[in-house]
Amino acid sequence: MNSEQTEKYTACERCGKKILEKCAIEDSGKVLCGDCVVLNTDKEVKHAEKIVKQQRKEEYQLEHKRIIKKQRQRAAYVFVTCLAIFGCVQIFNYMNRPEPVKSVHIDLKKNQETMRSLIVFAIDSYQTDHKGAAPDSLEMLIPNYISEKLQPFLDNFTYKRNGNTTFTIEDKNE
Ligand SMILES: [Zn+2]
Repeated sequence: MNSEQTEKYTACERCGKKILEKCAIEDSGKVLCGDCVVLNTDKEVKHAEKIVKQQRKEEYQLEHKRIIKKQRQRAAYVFVTCLAIFGCVQIFNYMNRPEPVKSVHIDLKKNQETMRSLIVFAIDSYQTDHKGAAPDSLEMLIPNYISEKLQPFLDNFTYKRNGNTTFTIEDKNE
């Protein structure tokens, strides 16, 4: 009973609880009991957490938007590049389009020189494929080097293989 008389009491400004003056805590200009200080601190912590959470969310959304913007820019860049390449290829193809083939009529019966050229060219191709060896006869050029259709014209020539890589070809009519 004696201590109660000497100790000074005060009331919590928040909940009105009677507290020892020496136990009272001043918080934001108010005299509060321990419970109310803890409650206030909890509230402040929760509020701070809420703010931090909100900030993180905003930062995340900002970053997300930034990444999407970047991806869109990249996609647009890739699209434009592809379009440019496609355009260039089209222009290149247009510039290099083949000329329409003009039909040429050659009468091989009358044009021995042309036939001889065809045979020499065919022998050259044959040699390229056979390590330089000349064919044993002109018949060997058919059908890979000379068309079967031209077979009758081969009879107009005398072919003779001299060595492995050399040959003579003569016009029978000359
Ligand atoms: Zn209180």
